[in-house]
Amino acid sequence: MLEREAAVQVKGSRMPARWTPSSARQLYDLPFNDLLFKAHTAHRTHFNPNQVQLSKLLNIKTGGCPEDCGYCSQSAHHASGVKASKLMEPQAVIEEARKAKEGGATRYCLGAAWRSPKPRDEAAIVAMVKGVKSLGLETCITLGMLSQEQAQTFADAGLDYYNHNIDTSERFYPEVATTRTFDERLETLAHVREAGIKVCSGGILGLGETVDDRIDMLVTLANLPTPPESVPINMLIPMPGSRLEKASPPDPIAFVRIIALARLMMPLSHVRLTAGRTAMSDEMQALCFFAGANSIFIGDTLLTAANPGDDRDASLLNRLGLIPETLEQAE
Ligand code: SAM
Ligand code: SF4
Repeated sequence: MLEREAAVQVKGSRMPARWTPSSARQLYDLPFNDLLFKAHTAHRTHFNPNQVQLSKLLNIKTGGCPEDCGYCSQSAHHASGVKASKLMEPQAVIEEARKAKEGGATRYCLGAAWRSPKPRDEAAIVAMVKGVKSLGLETCITLGMLSQEQAQTFADAGLDYYNHNIDTSERFYPEVATTRTFDERLETLAHVREAGIKVCSGGILGLGETVDDRIDMLVTLANLPTPPESVPINMLIPMPGSRLEKASPPDPIAFVRIIALARLMMPLSHVRLTAGRTAMSDEMQALCFFAGANSIFIGDTLLTAANPGDDRDASLLNRLGLIPETLEQAE
């Protein structure tokens, strides 16, 4: 079977690769209707196709980040006008999480503009994870690179997910960020997995990458010893002052093809339609949901950028007959 072509060895693992770039490319190149039909069929086999998981993201530490990710408004290397803030107080974070739960979110995600957390910040993060969890929400954090010990500290606090995106292919990665390597990203993912935390990892389309870079990114994710439970696919939000502020948006049809491919290559994972929805038409988002996307961020801000907001999303979900996934269904 196509999916079982085992021609290469997964990096750092004894397991045979489940996907090769060519087996993935064959699917990607199918006529659009055939690709969508296959992806939607896989989606129906493993999920209720009319349900979408709702997450909310809070930036707990904004700006001043020492990394140089070309797309990011929070990098200290970019004159984006974003002011650096201190880490929020756990009590304020827990209060925001409570409001998010009232708004229908089942997962609460905390992001910090760090290369990696400092030991002095770990106690506050642990308090946030415990507090958010005690509200009956799933917890996710994204703090940059983690050592094995840090991953274990957060696992012991009850953390459900750690987000750490690989962003693009290994080949294109140096064009996106130079202050860290693709291998360092994979190392943190391995630490998170080893600690027993669920993995959220995906990437961005629209960085100037080729279609093969997009496909190779999915091959890397799908061939991890255990694929991520959650796979965010972002469309670049060109942030003023960032290196990629003038990047051209990806072709919407090509974007939907990648969502469909992610669904086929990681059939059991939640495929998350994340950054960039404000610039997408309702019809494009509807195609993404048909192709297998089944998770979004709600609320009117996403880190330092705009997100569609509750009214537009409520209207879209309502017109598509999509209902929010409950926590029990997410298990
Ligand atoms: N500093 C941490 C890190 O990079 O791992 C966590 C926060 S970071 C802001 C979370 C993710 O958001 C990034 O990995 C990237 O994939 C995505 N992201 C950031 N800025 C974006 C933009 N302008 N457009 C699309 N996605 C973006
Ligand atoms: Fe820092 Fe994360 Fe932005 Fe990169 S994406 S500059 S690591 S906040």
